Amino acid sequence: MQNDDQSSVTEASGNSPAKVNLLGLDRRGLEAFFADMGEKAFRASQLLKWIHQLGVDDFDEMTNLSKALRTKLQAHAEIRAPQVVLDQGSSDGTHKWVLRLDGGNHIETVFIPDGERGTLCVSSQVGCALECSFCSTARQGFNRNLSVAEIIGQLRAAYTFFNARHRDERIITNVVLMGMGEPLLNFENVIAAMNIMTDDDSYGLSKRRVTLSTAGVVPGMDRLAVEADVSLAVSLHAPTDELRNELVPLNRKYPIKELMEACKRYVQAGSGKRKITFEYVMLDGVNDTPEHARQLLKVLKGVPSKVNLIPFNPFPQGKYQRSSNKAIETFWRILMDAGITTVTRRTRGDDIDAACGQLVGKVQDRTKRQQRYAAQESDQGGL
Ligand code: SAH
Repeated sequence: MQNDDQSSVTEASGNSPAKVNLLGLDRRGLEAFFADMGEKAFRASQLLKWIHQLGVDDFDEMTNLSKALRTKLQAHAEIRAPQVVLDQGSSDGTHKWVLRLDGGNHIETVFIPDGERGTLCVSSQVGCALECSFCSTARQGFNRNLSVAEIIGQLRAAYTFFNARHRDERIITNVVLMGMGEPLLNFENVIAAMNIMTDDDSYGLSKRRVTLSTAGVVPGMDRLAVEADVSLAVSLHAPTDELRNELVPLNRKYPIKELMEACKRYVQAGSGKRKITFEYVMLDGVNDTPEHARQLLKVLKGVPSKVNLIPFNPFPQGKYQRSSNKAIETFWRILMDAGITTVTRRTRGDDIDAACGQLVGKVQDRTKRQQRYAAQESDQGGL
């Protein structure tokens, strides 16, 4: 897994194939790296602090390492982060960064402040291999998984940005893997990146403040249940298989019944204390009627749940409309009356195309999906 990460990192550097990018190593990875060098395990703590808390890229600045060790590190390792090519603030305090990766790909990361809470929305893949019909990332196609360095590099970039302005204040309190991509299809790298997020020597986020969002990759959910202890969000979006097949085609592989069984197993693995957050995008006339809400209640039975209603965020060529406020309110009320904690997510950052489902980055598509969509659109234009 770490090999996988390093190969994509090495590819990116081009000129230093033998160097290990320490940005992509969690504590275990760093300890193994130092053990190979004949160094003690506590070096991992030192490096985590330098790299993540202090944002240092140059071994020469690491003053608590001997000159000899620094020289050795320079020969064998590097700290290389994806480059921020655009940072953009919204009038509502939302902030978006575009990061350049190798091969002409770009990904997006978004910070959303909300009172005491500051949430960073992180991407896990370049594009997405899934094809949810209401999501603009889906239209970009897919290029590849992000490396650990590229995932954690997003948090590091945002952290460095805020640290320069608000020293010692904790601005980023939560991380959600809800940017571009399906995190459970990049399992190993996502786990290692989450380990770094929650390590006290780097960002020290509590596990319940790190949320992984999945479209419902059942085997990945079962692995996550034992290998990590983070919060889980499931993008449900429909209460019947017929409708969900259309909105989230992954449902054909893992239908609602199987998905809900996996949710129950996830809760049980966490000694009964876990709750699953179900995301439900509100699409006008598609999945937003009182009947859908009642069907949803049946689906959620037996699973400790919270529901996030997400008003659909439009994007060019999208075929859906956002539900009316009245429809959302009625839907919300039905769930609340049945005792399900339900929150309607406020739309944030849409003036800089940073809202949920609007992240597009720049994907060197390997799936020919961009061409397919363009052809469909020109066909429709011709009618
Ligand atoms: N693949 C993962 C994570 C990325 S999507 C998943 O499916 O959960 C993050 C959330 O944004 C998901 O709930 C997704 O369904 C939602 N989303 C996607 N497009 C959207 C849009 N246009 N408007 C509102 N929410 C959207």
